[in-house]
Amino acid sequence: MENEVKKSLNFIEEIVEKDLQEGKNDGRIQTRFPPEPNGYLHIGHAKAIFMDFGIAKKYNGICNLRFDDTNPTKEDVEYVDSIQEDINWLGFKWANVYYASDYFQQLWDLAIKLIKDGKAYIDEQSAEEIAKQKGTPTTPGIESPYRNRPIEENLELFQKMNTGEIADGAMVLRAKIDMASPNMHFRDPIMYRVITTHPHHRTGTEWKAYPMYDFAHGQSDYFEGVTHSICTLEFVVHRPLYDWFIDQFADTDYRPHQYEFNRLNISYTVMSKRKMLQLVQEGLVAGWDDPRMPTICGLRRRGYTPEAIADFIDRIGYTKVDGMIDVSLLEHSIREDLKPKAHRVSAIFDPVKLVITNYPDGQKEYMTTDNNPDCETAGTREMPFSKEIFIERGDFMEDAPKDFYRLTPGGREVRLKSAYIIQCTGCEKDAEGNITTVYCTYDPDTKSGSEGSKRKVKSTINWLDKDGCIEAEVRLYDRLFKVEDPASYDGDFHDLLNENSLEVKTALVEKHLDGAKPGDHFQFLKVGYFTVDKDSTADKLILNRTVSLKDNWSKK
Ligand code: ATP
Ligand code: MG
Repeated sequence: MENEVKKSLNFIEEIVEKDLQEGKNDGRIQTRFPPEPNGYLHIGHAKAIFMDFGIAKKYNGICNLRFDDTNPTKEDVEYVDSIQEDINWLGFKWANVYYASDYFQQLWDLAIKLIKDGKAYIDEQSAEEIAKQKGTPTTPGIESPYRNRPIEENLELFQKMNTGEIADGAMVLRAKIDMASPNMHFRDPIMYRVITTHPHHRTGTEWKAYPMYDFAHGQSDYFEGVTHSICTLEFVVHRPLYDWFIDQFADTDYRPHQYEFNRLNISYTVMSKRKMLQLVQEGLVAGWDDPRMPTICGLRRRGYTPEAIADFIDRIGYTKVDGMIDVSLLEHSIREDLKPKAHRVSAIFDPVKLVITNYPDGQKEYMTTDNNPDCETAGTREMPFSKEIFIERGDFMEDAPKDFYRLTPGGREVRLKSAYIIQCTGCEKDAEGNITTVYCTYDPDTKSGSEGSKRKVKSTINWLDKDGCIEAEVRLYDRLFKVEDPASYDGDFHDLLNENSLEVKTALVEKHLDGAKPGDHFQFLKVGYFTVDKDSTADKLILNRTVSLKDNWSKK
């Protein structure tokens, strides 16, 4: 079999290749990623980013970053900055950064042209009244009583909408298209509204009348020269309106063409920016970068890598059918990525002392262990070893059933990973009956790597020398929601939050982790992958559980 299987193209790549063959747009490929800066990017945005930037990269085109910042009530520079940071982290470079707000004057001029052409009018009805008159997809809407207002009056009122003389919500500018159109978006869509309550993050209080997203979006693509305007399926029904607006003023044949793919939904989480904001504002998570969040910064803090996200996006692909992706696939991707990268270390979550009675008092030796058997260049390290070590409490059982292969008095031999073979002789308990010490003997001829170590032993356990470990705070994350599809729940989403989504513990970890930096990855043997948290300091090591070792995806 070939080493490299030639990957088939996704349907948008097929379109692009066909356009290139036909010489469309003189072979020019230009895309854009157009976030509204009203929240942090999430893994769904990553899917769009890999598409938009990926197409440009693959076909020698350019991809611009455009902030669709038409609603000052929800937008902020904090989001502008975080969006740029996250795209960079994912490994993409934009050609230019643009803002829809840079086009406010151009858009205004087009609105004036539409008014002058008798294709737009000022409506003084409330948003509720306008909504009520929309009709349904099968029944036509009702025309506004202001629909046939004289052009001069429309022009005058439109100016006033922008000077502060008109209160928020008192008037809107609507396109005069067709109240009976089968496409609801053609039923005199709102083009402009008044917002005086919030200054714009870039234009301040210069404008009071703001274009609606539907009026600004398609035009912005046109102004920039976008060739392939790629977005998600919910915009299919908006496409004819974007085209209509552009047809009203375009004087060349060039048009940006919109193509839509399926949105990413992942089980056990929410990806609406509104709901994520609510989680943050109500303190239900520790911020946008809480490692339980599906945000890019949350995933990064949790220990996800750009490579793992790329692998995941590649596996899910692009189609024209919406669906739900199992979160265990995302977990599979990070596990696969960290496998050859993360050093494997011993960590003990519930330690109990183990004394090797026949090991010489005061003796210390060093055991060589592989940093990562899945990586040839990872090398080895030395772990101190002596008479007293710690093991996981669960690796000992006083009265064990027959099939318990770990330590039990008089039981089978057990291997201490990278050290010796031992056998349990007994234990000591406190007044309450808790085990305080486990006693064993060791076979000095079984040191790891020696001939004697090759003896067959059913089980291997982890250990830490009392002088070879440090304490660390470990944050064990689980799914944020208890149900697969919280977004489809009609009731209060608080009911669905998993109250056990974070458990904080103290564990003993190898001294090898001393000085580890935020973002460093480790595999805790038998437990999972952990990543040093950004709050970690030289005095207090903090690690986030990125993912457990148990792979639910491969088992499917
Ligand atoms: P809102 O929920 O506030 O409308 P949004 O999630 O659509 O926001 P935008 O900032 O408008 O966010 O999105 C920027 C781009 O990312 C758009 O092209 C949009 O289609 C795409 N996108 C957003 N969410 C997803 C998702 N879950 N899967 C794939 N692409 C997405
Ligand atoms: Mg949107």
